[in-house]
Amino acid sequence: MQQLLNRRASKLRWNRTHPDRMREYSRRWAKSHPEHFKKPTVRATAAKWRENNRERLRQNHINWRNAHPSAWRAIQRRSHEKNRVKIRERNRIYRQEHKIQQRDYGRAWRSLHPEFVRAAARRRRVRELRAEGFHTVKQWLLLCAKYGHHCAHCGELRKLTEDHIIPLSRGGSDFISNIQPLCLSCNQKKGTRVEKTQEVRSVRRS
Ligand SMILES: [Zn+2]
Repeated sequence: MQQLLNRRASKLRWNRTHPDRMREYSRRWAKSHPEHFKKPTVRATAAKWRENNRERLRQNHINWRNAHPSAWRAIQRRSHEKNRVKIRERNRIYRQEHKIQQRDYGRAWRSLHPEFVRAAARRRRVRELRAEGFHTVKQWLLLCAKYGHHCAHCGELRKLTEDHIIPLSRGGSDFISNIQPLCLSCNQKKGTRVEKTQEVRSVRRS
């Protein structure tokens, strides 16, 4: 033990008396061990911080989006515009690779959301007839709730369908103000009347 301490003391003495040699030695050691001296770059530090604070950044981002909806929409629009070709190609490849899954998924989704399927059909009709207006499925469901899910005509508690008070074919709009909930039989009765009116009009025109 004493021997070891003596050796160490003598080494330290040598170190002190040969500063130039020591400096040279350290320099050489440093050169062959760069990983001990490399300072992380600002970029690397930032990346590491982001990696460690992922959840926090995600939440910040969501908060910002919620606070600035129109700015966020503009950003999305711009980015979509910029990457339009890329996105289209990616979607095309995805569709091709997931043809069967997509078909099954679409079927399952449609059977679970018949109201959205009907809404899509209605919008198509609105487009075809060049009628104005728009309402959402949510607005329709709220309207049904307002009527206590009863038919607006016969007052029966039945499955309700959307009726355009002024038919689309007669210049009615698709705004919720022109919609009333009717049971299927009331809607069909009303529907025939409208058809008759159209017949009369077409006869008059000819
Ligand atoms: Zn009815």
